[in-house]
Amino acid sequence: MNLKELLRSWQPPPATAASAARPPIGNIFRYGRHAVELAYTTSPTLCIALGILTIIAGVLPAGVAWIGAHIVDAVIGAMRTYPASGSAVFRPVYVFVGLEALLVAMLAATQRGLSTCQSLLRAQLGQRVNVMILEKALTLGLEQFEDSEFYDKLSRARREASSRPLSLVMRTFGLVQNAVSLASFGAILVQFSPAAVLILALAGLPAFFAEAKFSGDAFRLFRWRSPETRMQSYLETVLAREDHAKEVKLFGIGPLLLGRYRDIYEKLYLEDRALTLRRDAWGFALGLVATLSLYGAYAWIAVSAARGVITLGQMTMYLALFRQGQSALSSALSAVGGLYEDNLYLSNLYEYLEQEVASPRGAVKHGPSPADGIRFEKVSFSYPGADSPALYGVDLALRPGESLALVGENGSGKTTLIKLLTRLYHPTEGRIVFEGQDLEEWDEATLRERIGVIFQDFARYQLPVGENVGAGDVAHFDERERWIDAAEKGLADPFIRELPAGYDTQLGKWFKGGRELSGGQWQKIALSRAFMRSRADVLVLDEPTAAMDAAAESEVFEHFRTLTRGRMTILISHRFSTVRMADRIAVLEGGRIAECGSHEELMRLDGRYARLFSLQARGYR
Ligand code: ADP
Repeated sequence: MNLKELLRSWQPPPATAASAARPPIGNIFRYGRHAVELAYTTSPTLCIALGILTIIAGVLPAGVAWIGAHIVDAVIGAMRTYPASGSAVFRPVYVFVGLEALLVAMLAATQRGLSTCQSLLRAQLGQRVNVMILEKALTLGLEQFEDSEFYDKLSRARREASSRPLSLVMRTFGLVQNAVSLASFGAILVQFSPAAVLILALAGLPAFFAEAKFSGDAFRLFRWRSPETRMQSYLETVLAREDHAKEVKLFGIGPLLLGRYRDIYEKLYLEDRALTLRRDAWGFALGLVATLSLYGAYAWIAVSAARGVITLGQMTMYLALFRQGQSALSSALSAVGGLYEDNLYLSNLYEYLEQEVASPRGAVKHGPSPADGIRFEKVSFSYPGADSPALYGVDLALRPGESLALVGENGSGKTTLIKLLTRLYHPTEGRIVFEGQDLEEWDEATLRERIGVIFQDFARYQLPVGENVGAGDVAHFDERERWIDAAEKGLADPFIRELPAGYDTQLGKWFKGGRELSGGQWQKIALSRAFMRSRADVLVLDEPTAAMDAAAESEVFEHFRTLTRGRMTILISHRFSTVRMADRIAVLEGGRIAECGSHEELMRLDGRYARLFSLQARGYR
C-alpha cells in the first residue's frame, strides 16, 4: 500500500464503551488530587506557602467588606453628632479607613506572594514532570515505542509537560480560594438571614453542575479524538520538517496531505462547535438564574435597610458581599471549565507513567559453558498484533570465533532474529541460549555489554562526530583515544580528520554550523561505533554497509574479520561477495531457515543460495 492509499483508507477507530462510561464529574476532579500530590512532593515549602496564601486571599475580601460597613456606620454616627461633639468623633472613621487600607495592602501582598510561588513552582514542576516522563521512557520496551497508542500518550505527555501540571494545581487552589471567599461571605451573611446564605449557595449550583457536566463531555470528546489528533500532528510533522521536505516536494504530495489535515480539522470543528454552543447556551441560562436570584436578595436587603432593620453600613456590606459572591462564583465556574483540559493532560500523563513495564528478569552474569556460544532452539516469534509469525522454528548455533551471515529477501526475518538475540523482543516459542544459559536469565547490563549491534537504521545523533563514535560504549563515551582507535578500525578516521573541527565537528542541522555526512560516511561512523565495544563477544552488523560501494564494503569486512578474530560475528548483507567470507551462511525464507552451511557447502547443495549467488555474480561479470 502506498502513502496515498494509506491516507485514503485511514479511518479513526470508534470510541470505546469504557471511556464513555465514566461519570463526568469524577473525570474532572479525579486528577486534582494527583496534581496537588505532585506539586507537594516537588516542593513542600512552596505548596504550604501557596495553601496559606490561598486561604488568606480567600478570607480578606470578606474582611474588607466588613470594615467597609463600619466606615459607613462611623460616618453616619459622626454626622449625627458633629459639630457639637468636636472632631473626636472622626477618630473611628480614621481607624476603620486605616484598617481597610491595611487589609487592601495585605491583599495585594498575598496576591503578589501567590504569583511568586506560582512562578517558582512552575519551573520546578515542569522540570520534575519532564524528568519523570524521560525516566519512564528509558524503562520502556521497544514494543511500547512501536505501539501507536502508547507512543501517542508519550508525545502528548511531553508536549505540555511544563505548563499543564501547574495550571491544574493553580486552578485547584483557585477553586479553593473562591470556596473560602464564598464561605466567609456566608458566615457574615448568616447574621442578616440564613435564607440569604441559602440563596447564595443555591443560586450558583445549577450553573456549577452544568459546567461540570459539559466539561466532562468535552473531556471524553477529546479522549476519543486522539487518533485524529495524532494523525493531525503526524501530518504537521511531515509537512513542516526538513527530513521529509525532500520527498514531499518531489512527489508533490504536500497538497494532498494538507487536504487531509483540513478535513480532520473540519470534522473536529463541527463537534467542537456543537459542544461549545450547547455549553454556552446552558451556561448563560443558568447563570441568569443565579444573577436574578442574587438581585432578588439584593432588593430584599435594600428594603430591609429602608425599613431600618439593618444599618446603612450593613446594607453596603451585604450588597458588596453579594456582588463579590457573584464574581467569586463565576470565576469558580470558569476554573471548572479550565480544569477539564488540565485533567485531560494529567489523565494522559498518569496513564503513561502507570504503564506496566516488564522488569528486567535475569541476574546471571556468566554462562556455565562459554564455549557453547549462541544457540537458537526452535525459536518462533510473532510481533504483537501480527497474524503470522515473523520467525518460525529457527534452529541455529554459533560458536566463539565463528562468523555467521544471514541472507534472505526483505521481510524474511533477519532483523527480527537480531532483535530477539539482543532481547529487544522475547521469543514467543522456543529459547535462545547464550553460553549455556537461557538468554532470558541474563543480567540486562551484562548482556548489553557482551552483545554489540549496529542496526541498519542506526541512530544519527546530532552531537559531535567523536561522541557519535563514543556512543558505541557508554563506559568510554568521551575518551578521545578510544574514539580515534575505533574510527581507524571502522575506516572513518580519514574523513573525520578532514572535517573542520576534526572529532569535535558538530553533526546535524539542528545546531548552528552542524555538518551533514553522506550515507556511506554515516555508516562508517556506525561501524566505528561497533569497534568501541572492545569487550563485546558478539558483534552484529545489520546491513550497515549498504550505502557503501562494493569495494569499500568488501574492504570493511576483510578488516572487520581480522579485528574480530576469536569473537562471534553476525552479519546481514545483500552482497554475496561479502557474505561468502563468513564461516557459515543461513538463508532465511519467510521466517524459516531454508539452508545453512559454508559458502562451498551451499554452492555444492545447488539450492537457493547457489542460485542467488550466481545471479549476482553474473551481474558483476
Ligand atoms: P528483514 O530484516 O529480513 O528485512 P524483518 O525481520 O525486519 O525482515 O521483518 C520480518 C517480518 O516481520 C516482516 O514481515 C515485517 O513486516 C515484520 N515486522 C518487522 N518489524 C515489525 C514490527 N515492529 N511490528 C510488526 N511487524 C514487524
